[in-house]
Amino acid sequence: MASNIESAPESAAALVRPAIAAIAGYVPGEQPQGGVWTKLNTNENPYPPSPAVAEAVAAVCAGRTLAKYPDPLATHFREQAASVLGVTPEMILCGNGSDDLLTILVRTYVGEGEALRVPTPSYILYRTLADIQGVDCDEVAFNADWSLPAAFGEPMTPAGKPVKLAIVPNPNSPSGTLLSPDVLLQLAEQLPCPLVVDEAYGDFGETNCLDLVRQSERVIVTRSLSKSYALAGIRFGFAVAQPGVIEQLRKVKDSYNCDAISIAAATAAVADQDWLAANQAAIRATRDRLSGALRQLGFAVIDSQANFVWCTHSAHSHRSIYEALKARQILVRFMQYAGWGDGLRITVGTDAEIDTLLAVLPDVLRQTSC
Ligand SMILES: *Cc1c(COP(=O)(O)O)cnc(C)c1O
Repeated sequence: MASNIESAPESAAALVRPAIAAIAGYVPGEQPQGGVWTKLNTNENPYPPSPAVAEAVAAVCAGRTLAKYPDPLATHFREQAASVLGVTPEMILCGNGSDDLLTILVRTYVGEGEALRVPTPSYILYRTLADIQGVDCDEVAFNADWSLPAAFGEPMTPAGKPVKLAIVPNPNSPSGTLLSPDVLLQLAEQLPCPLVVDEAYGDFGETNCLDLVRQSERVIVTRSLSKSYALAGIRFGFAVAQPGVIEQLRKVKDSYNCDAISIAAATAAVADQDWLAANQAAIRATRDRLSGALRQLGFAVIDSQANFVWCTHSAHSHRSIYEALKARQILVRFMQYAGWGDGLRITVGTDAEIDTLLAVLPDVLRQTSC
């Protein structure tokens, strides 16, 4: 006891769990808060959300709703989304963005000495979630054609840890590529654990995996309102799984993980499927125009099923292109993956934003060779 009093007290910063001290923390894409930027770096929707959202939010703010705790299960949203998606409300769990659901899933399924499996290159947050949980993250590289190798279905990691959860973003980021539901169902049957299909970009693709949830108790789909419904600013996402799975996940979430404003906004957004269809058509048309124009400038561009395109250029440094664009107030995402390589991920903006980018790119390319 006495020696404790004499020794210098350690700061709270030094007393965190070793798993936390060891990590750098997830670094989100740049979000400049002032100035006039053409922002094509974090896959936000370039259009305002459905006008029904503003009305719903105004109604929540006008009454006494904000004085009370919100519905812990966001039942209005679940009923609305269930009818649109052809599932039941018991199959839906809502979250503070789909990142919240990914956190809940990792906490629910992966314990000490066990592993999370994810493909790479993909969403970098997955590894951060495993690191925070203090579990292994088994990153399996995509094949060159962005298909998954057989190793992705193995029950153990190379280090001998049992795989307790697998997450596959579909469409994938940064590639924008889509795996077919057949391939993912086969994978789910092979894996010893649940398979989460992260469909943050699912509304932009030709197919999705909602049907798999009806077919398999092993498949969990996560969705986000941030991208396809233009609501990144309110934070709302949801998971779709069999009712028994949802019941378990509910135990792990914060009691009030979604607030009254975001529940009202998300419910109104999902009710307006005409808005979604028009927005999807606009984004897809601009995406195809952007891809074609980039190819004309010598970029290799993968056909995208999302609201961004992944491109590389053999004769130019991707980092230099990113920096030269930034100097012109245009933000794209420079992505670098250890042991794999780098490239540029460009969000599909409005036609005017894409014109701004395309207008300066020839100049930028003249200025930046390898
Ligand atoms: C943007 C994104 C998310 C997070 O979405 P939020 O609902 O905004 O939390 C999840 N997964 C992938 C692959 C994403 O790109």
